[in-house]
Amino acid sequence: MKSKKKIVLINPFLVRLRRNLRAILKEAYFVEINHLRALNQLYIDKITPDYKLSSSQRKRRRYISRKENELMASYHRSILVCVFGPLCVTTEGTSDLLDMDKVWFPFFDGWMCLPCYEHIIKRKQMHVTQEDLEPSFHITRLLRKEFEDNNF
Ligand SMILES: [Zn+2]
Repeated sequence: MKSKKKIVLINPFLVRLRRNLRAILKEAYFVEINHLRALNQLYIDKITPDYKLSSSQRKRRRYISRKENELMASYHRSILVCVFGPLCVTTEGTSDLLDMDKVWFPFFDGWMCLPCYEHIIKRKQMHVTQEDLEPSFHITRLLRKEFEDNNF
């Protein structure tokens, strides 16, 4: 999608349905990412000063790592989370991101929860530009990388 798109549900049945579908997708993500991490860990555990992985093992490990990275990138751009990650204003409260209405934000190539979107719009008084958002974007990327590197 090239332009912003806000998805707001009002019908309680659809809100419940959306929540359940998102919960299933989130569970599937964590099952798969944990599976890939466990596979990768098997290779890491094999490596000792006396044992190095064979060529085919290294190739397989790179494939698993690439799949893990692709899946994490897809998840962090998905509608299951807010693109602001740890800087999301919703995570400070008690609201669950699975229930949130979201806005597609092309600049971030991801979904932003409505409270974050409204926070930005209010702060910038409807004059949101890429330059305005760039510092937050870089902070988010740095924090996300730190979280991923430390397996939080
Ligand atoms: Zn948010």
